[in-house]
Amino acid sequence: MIRSILYIAFIAILFPLSIRSQGNSFTYKDSLRGAMRKEREFDVTHYDLHVKINPDKKFIEGYNTISYVGKTDCNELQVDLFENMKILSIKAGSTNLKYRRIFDAIFIDYPIRLDKKDKITIEFEGNPIVAKNAPWDGGFVFSKDQNGDHWIGVACEGTGASLWWPNKDHLSEEPQNMDIYVTAPKGYMAISNGKLIDEQKSGKNNTTYHWHVSYPINNYNVTVYIGKYTHFTEEMKTLSNEKLMLNYYVLQYNLDKAKTHFEQTKKMLESFDNYCGTYPFINDGYSLVEAPYLGMEHQSAIAYGNEFLRGYKGERIPDHLHFDFIILHESGHEYWGNSVSCTDHSEMWIHEGFTTYMESLYVEYMYGKEEGLKYLEYQKPFIKNNAPLLGPKDVNFDGNSSDIYYKGAWILQTLRKSLSNDTLFFKIFKGFYDKHKYGFATTMDFVDYVNLSSGFDYSAFFRQYLKHKPLPKLIYKIGHRDNYTSILYKWDCLESQFTFPVEFELDGKKIRLEPGFDWKNIEFNRNFKNVKPITRGLLINVEEQKM
Ligand SMILES: [Zn+2]
Repeated sequence: MIRSILYIAFIAILFPLSIRSQGNSFTYKDSLRGAMRKEREFDVTHYDLHVKINPDKKFIEGYNTISYVGKTDCNELQVDLFENMKILSIKAGSTNLKYRRIFDAIFIDYPIRLDKKDKITIEFEGNPIVAKNAPWDGGFVFSKDQNGDHWIGVACEGTGASLWWPNKDHLSEEPQNMDIYVTAPKGYMAISNGKLIDEQKSGKNNTTYHWHVSYPINNYNVTVYIGKYTHFTEEMKTLSNEKLMLNYYVLQYNLDKAKTHFEQTKKMLESFDNYCGTYPFINDGYSLVEAPYLGMEHQSAIAYGNEFLRGYKGERIPDHLHFDFIILHESGHEYWGNSVSCTDHSEMWIHEGFTTYMESLYVEYMYGKEEGLKYLEYQKPFIKNNAPLLGPKDVNFDGNSSDIYYKGAWILQTLRKSLSNDTLFFKIFKGFYDKHKYGFATTMDFVDYVNLSSGFDYSAFFRQYLKHKPLPKLIYKIGHRDNYTSILYKWDCLESQFTFPVEFELDGKKIRLEPGFDWKNIEFNRNFKNVKPITRGLLINVEEQKM
């Protein structure tokens, strides 16, 4: 009982970030997109998206039927589509609905009714935003392959799926399943998420590919690839002995290269299975699709653009390792980001930090714990401590520091080290995944889960690492006299409740001390010559001061 009251208190004091504190300013447009309001209180159950793509005109047209259940009573309903895209009609059945557009939001004159199942169809067309630097800024990529044939993709994480199709564009919304029909010029293949149901001629000059996603999917994961693709498959057994189909779609002239290079994928998926359980989207299968941009975690249709190289375009992994970073990282997102999703862009560290930690777990699975830690140590210098990991809420925040990757992973590593119990750490890691798979998780969900599972209050630990830029610093002083040693120690940090145990080594002997915000002292009736804290595997600064 005391525990539950305590946890309510934790929730109240954790993470009240003010927008101004980060020096950002946001507009009404950002709030329309990033915040929830009554007009968005409906739960999408299904999207039925039809899109025809004209590569020469860089033009798309189609319609989306949105099925939903009302969660309130409200006279208007909001969906989202970028203002440069034209709306041809919005209908409920055969009735044309009135609507008004404010920036990228559409307010439809159609009531939401509590618990009522309903659907609307939005017909749209236009020239969607073309990405200047995909996948870092959202938009379409209309490129040509080396034979001069069209090669098209779209990546919209951050910017939002409503840049090309109308939907309820908020991270807290995922339909239960989805159908995607993509029409492309004859001779081209159109690939999307999930499973290919069929392909049919559409008029004289086009082919329509119907894809079905049988799991919840977040909007930015919905994607399309058009090109002269070839397809090969492999079957693997999961660790629980289920069949998992691996699909590879590559440009026809890269088939031989891909067959060799993609062999590494199975071990990556096996390692994830080991730490988090069966591949989440097993009924849809796993797919890697060659894309005209570096990569993106599109659910069950991962974008691959690393040119069949090791690391990240040949770099950014330790010299002695040879895996393809893009396959590893983007596949890790199938668990963290796609299966477990955050509900607001301010908490993207859950997607990126956990996925970056999955990279190190793959290395650990393949080469042992020491190599896994070395991999994280290789990434540690990339940490900048230039912004809190938690961004401002309700504004579709798109200015996250790269710290959400490396610092995020190191927070998990520091948690593991401080628990000093790998069995417990992995129980927490997998247990948290299992609790939230095919759904949503917030930072508070994780803090609560760690606190309950460990029996230790980590709230201040997470506040320090997630809300503040600087790292906690361990300060200590060593005193020596004949037959006497003393250690004075404390944390220098911004959270007064911050604490976790740190090991000290005294002439080879290890002891665990728990520094706090104020100085603590421990004395020994012996003169230890070498006294130092063991800080490997921890994300902290250390300073020894003169006694
Ligand atoms: Zn990522």
